[in-house]
Amino acid sequence: MSQTYELSCDCGKATLTARGEPELSLYCHCPSCRALYSVDIASLTAWSDDNIDLPDASQLIVHKLPDREMTRYGCAECGMTLYGRHKPGMPVVPHGVFRKAHGGQLPQPLAPTMHLFYGDRVLDVADDLQKSQGGELVGL
Ligand SMILES: [Zn+2]
Ligand SMILES: [Zn+2]
Repeated sequence: MSQTYELSCDCGKATLTARGEPELSLYCHCPSCRALYSVDIASLTAWSDDNIDLPDASQLIVHKLPDREMTRYGCAECGMTLYGRHKPGMPVVPHGVFRKAHGGQLPQPLAPTMHLFYGDRVLDVADDLQKSQGGELVGL
């Protein structure tokens, strides 16, 4: 049976539905993700366009990084970030958006499997997940 995740922003006006398995779930340490989400480590799922229903553009505010193919979309009403699009193009939903919809827990099927661009990190992480110094684990 395929899982469905109903997600929404803080005010509830912008909603997003993801179905089935993400293409990727990971921690990304690259400078672009750190800049886009203003974090030291980005904690993200990536989805095929077929498995996600995104909010209508009229419900969104857009933040694009200068000079990079990296965009973040938030609710036009409350401002909460819901997803991003990065250079390879897939919609990317931060783990925190799923946690918010699941009482603070990340649903088990969405557990991250690797660290990407670990060579670019600003924080060390002592866990047992695979660590890609660049993007080689996912062919970037
Ligand atoms: Zn909102
Ligand atoms: Zn990244």
